[in-house]
Amino acid sequence: MQSREEVAANNDIFVLTMCAAQVPSLSTLETLLSKRPLLISGPCSAETPDQVLQTALRLKATGKVDMLRAGIWKPRTKPGLFEGVGKKGLPWLQEARSQTGLPVMVEVATAKQVEEALAHQIDALWIGARTTVNPFSVQEIADALSGVTIPIFIKNPINPDLELWAGAVERVERAGIKQIGLIHRGFSTFGQTPYRNAPLWHLAIEMKLRFPKLLFINDPSHICGRRDLLAEVMQRAIDLDMDGLMVESHSQPDQAWSDAAQQVSPEALSVLLEKLVWRNDDSQSIDYHSALDQLRQQINQLDEEVLQLLGRRMQVAEQIAHYKKENNITILQAGRWQEIMQRTLARAEELKLGREFITQYLDALHMESINHQQKILDRKSSDTDFAAAR
Ligand code: PEP
Ligand code: MN
Repeated sequence: MQSREEVAANNDIFVLTMCAAQVPSLSTLETLLSKRPLLISGPCSAETPDQVLQTALRLKATGKVDMLRAGIWKPRTKPGLFEGVGKKGLPWLQEARSQTGLPVMVEVATAKQVEEALAHQIDALWIGARTTVNPFSVQEIADALSGVTIPIFIKNPINPDLELWAGAVERVERAGIKQIGLIHRGFSTFGQTPYRNAPLWHLAIEMKLRFPKLLFINDPSHICGRRDLLAEVMQRAIDLDMDGLMVESHSQPDQAWSDAAQQVSPEALSVLLEKLVWRNDDSQSIDYHSALDQLRQQINQLDEEVLQLLGRRMQVAEQIAHYKKENNITILQAGRWQEIMQRTLARAEELKLGREFITQYLDALHMESINHQQKILDRKSSDTDFAAAR
């Protein structure tokens, strides 16, 4: 009789689908995935049977972790680095699961890896950031998943492109996968940031709003790249109502073969988790609701006023455009804009408004004003326009 590994190797889709159907614990897994917060942890890479098992047992002993993760195939930026132990690590995860009861998950980047993981009854899979960027790879994985019922987590692509992330979700959805999770692991960006991958929280928020029904997990380890920043990012993720966390942990973090600086021991993870302030997304308190209702009405009113003022401001800009047109003057007046920027930024500081926010706001405002003025300058019948504007 063939071993499971041989089954995986012979690439027989029918046999593999049968193996996948035997994956146990699916209903328990479904219950587990609805747990909030969902806590996933484990090493960046499976290195040895003992390291996987020790990490898993110690994670289990914390009583706080719901799923065990480990990378078996590691996508590395440069060749020559540790690229994962490959499929021989899959039985180590099976053993860790049988000793701890923790469902196990691995990263997959090719159809073959999907097949090998399924043949070893891995409970869930994730698509890594370097794979989400490539629609060919995502489609290949999606095709390999056809007819399979297993939860799939999709990390954000390394570049800040929500369409690629959303496209990967669509491909996996079309393969018939019902349990899809998103993992926010930060984005490669040019420029200085204390993080290994900039969190760009606004993109995570937008993705969460676009896919409100999908599980949304934060991966602070790959955002931070170093363990001393983890607490702050984990708390931020909770404050933004993420459904759970995936944190890398290792039995001996400093000796890890990959991502050593960002991994923590299971016990250190437990301490980090204890220090977090867990929030609710709603409250039963009548006082809370009535106070919030009043304040939200104020916000709605203020938003309306801001919009009316912006509309009024554009009307004035259009009046200016008529004068510029009549006198054949350029729309862009750099000196005048510098003056507005300086004055507004100084005033914004007094009002405790963030410099970056106000700079972005002014840039957008200026562009909108230029567009309104351009329309006036492009119009043919200047005389009637000018008369109308007065
Ligand atoms: C990982 O989770 O170990 C990993 C490789 O992550 P990412 O795809 O986010 O780089
Ligand atoms: Mn890692």
